[in-house]
Amino acid sequence: MGIMEKMRLDGKKIFVTGGARGIGMNIARGVAEAGADVAIVDVDIDEAAKTAQQISADTGRRVIPLRADVTKPQEVDEMIAAVLEQFDRIDAAFCNAGICINAPAEEMTFEQWKRVIDINLTGVFLTAQAAGKVMIRQGGGSIINTASMSAHIVNVPQPQCAYNASKAGVIQLTKSLAVEWAMKGVRVNSISPGYIGTDLVMNSPTLVPLIDKWKEMTPVRRLGRPEELQAIAVYLAGDTSQFTTGADFVIDGAFTCI
Ligand code: NDP
Repeated sequence: MGIMEKMRLDGKKIFVTGGARGIGMNIARGVAEAGADVAIVDVDIDEAAKTAQQISADTGRRVIPLRADVTKPQEVDEMIAAVLEQFDRIDAAFCNAGICINAPAEEMTFEQWKRVIDINLTGVFLTAQAAGKVMIRQGGGSIINTASMSAHIVNVPQPQCAYNASKAGVIQLTKSLAVEWAMKGVRVNSISPGYIGTDLVMNSPTLVPLIDKWKEMTPVRRLGRPEELQAIAVYLAGDTSQFTTGADFVIDGAFTCI
């Protein structure tokens, strides 16, 4: 079998949190195009349903919408139970849901700090823990967390200390789980995108005026497109990445090189 066939995900069962739009939607589409059945998990069930229907129509795969708020342990557990009911197993889990709140550190409210940490870090832990339990039982699986280049550098000019801290936490959580679960067959990696033109960026009145500045700061002089993260997602979800665990993949147009 050639490498392209080995990279296919036929028969694999995968879920993606924050899958209704943006990076999560593109990851879901990418793994479905590679042959996987996918659960689109999101707080916005209507948007998740639209996305699931569109990806299923385009790829012919089973794509189902599921509602869960990743900050709520019970909702995460119920989501995992629903994925198992529909798909019987979980081969790969993308813990991708995340938000960004910009506020100067000296003005950031407790609620703002807590909301970012709850979704971006605690949400990833709860989702990875619940998926990890299933994968340990199965004897294997792949967990892929969405971190950010903000785990490595401090973005400017926007002040986003909670976001940066949460994403640095995601990388160290990823490595910790990778080590704990290495001998149980569960691989855990993270993807760290640079600036990507999704709703998180394009719908934020505070971020849109900064786009030209970010382009100027990026050696390739443009934002990334969400579909440019699909290939790494397919690789990490599949069987050709068996020796890849505890790694962080920075995909940022060389932003963090300078
Ligand atoms: P989007 O805002 O476009 O999509 C995020 C999705 O997650 C939305 O559908 C959102 O639903 C959902 N979501 C938010 N909170 C929760 C929750 N508590 N439980 C379940 N789902 C939730 O963001 P992106 O696609 O841009 O971001 C995806 C990930 O990529 C995030 O972790 C982000 O930090 C990371 N990232 C993004 C970069 C970028 O430049 N865009 C760069 C680096 C990392 P709703 O809209 O209804 O709230």
